[in-house]
Amino acid sequence: MSTVAFIGLGIMGGPMARHLAGAGYDVVGFNRSPEKTEQLVEAGGRAADSAAGAVDGADIVALMLPDSPDVTDVVTGAVFDTAKPGTLIVDFSTIRPDVARDLAQQAADRGLRMIDAPVSGGQAGAENAALSIMVGGADADVADARPLLDVVGKTVVHVGPAGAGQTVKAANQLIVAGNIALLAEAVTFLQAHGADLPAAIEVLGGGLAGSAVLNQKAQKMLDGDFAPGFRIDLHHKDMGIVAESARQAGVVTPVAALVAQLVAATRAAGDGDLDHSALLRTVARLNGASS
Ligand code: NAD
Repeated sequence: MSTVAFIGLGIMGGPMARHLAGAGYDVVGFNRSPEKTEQLVEAGGRAADSAAGAVDGADIVALMLPDSPDVTDVVTGAVFDTAKPGTLIVDFSTIRPDVARDLAQQAADRGLRMIDAPVSGGQAGAENAALSIMVGGADADVADARPLLDVVGKTVVHVGPAGAGQTVKAANQLIVAGNIALLAEAVTFLQAHGADLPAAIEVLGGGLAGSAVLNQKAQKMLDGDFAPGFRIDLHHKDMGIVAESARQAGVVTPVAALVAQLVAATRAAGDGDLDHSALLRTVARLNGASS
């Protein structure tokens, strides 16, 4: 039985770590707010009181942290200081591709192995162990991680060398944000016409306008339920990754720029902790709503 240090037990990492414990891994969890380890312990895992305490003795280190600086701090600190030689680091977080590449190189220089394995599928995908996982790294390392990835993922694809998973994830985040923005405009448009919204959403879902975004987010919008899910603050971070990565490649992405501004406006209005379906509130404000 492999020992897995799991660092970052939030909306996504919490259920992922519990699935690994359920599958027989010896999971040692650490989270900055320690109460988040309680559910892992109930699911058969163990709690550590520091990142280094979780990494000590682990065969695999899994990370599910918010942003590039968080991953950099934990990897270059607790992991590099504590991990035994050959340890496999699996970073599930969504971070900048260049940071992922750089950390993988630094890990290799220290006799460690690191792959990027960002996920898509949202909270539901994490809770149902049905994530789509885009994996970047060396063939042998990805092969070694595959059994663990298969526990939490349904569609697991090795897309290239270190950093490539994050590049694909940036494209994923562009597509999702654009979809949500268009869904928010469509809902606002249908409301203005006094349309039967549940009926409209049902029939739209059966045609070319149907999507995972529509399936997961339309009802939340109709209910005005913007509990996260995926926080606007995190999608703002991801639109920054899209913009920077597009610039590095010299690629023009005009819709990405517009949608990034809508996400930024949602955050500026104080909705950063709401689900990204709260883009609806920004579209409503553009249409004269007062809050
Ligand atoms: P979250 O904020 O719910 O969870 C992050 C957790 O990390 C928190 O519990 C926080 O306390 C902990 N943390 C932060 N810094 C830490 C540190 N230094 N040491 C230990 N713990 C620390 O966020 P989330 O929604 O689970 O997202 C995590 C990552 O997954 C992000 O990169 C996000 O972009 C990505 N992601 C999220 C979703 C989603 O639907 N929520 C979907 C796909 C990908």
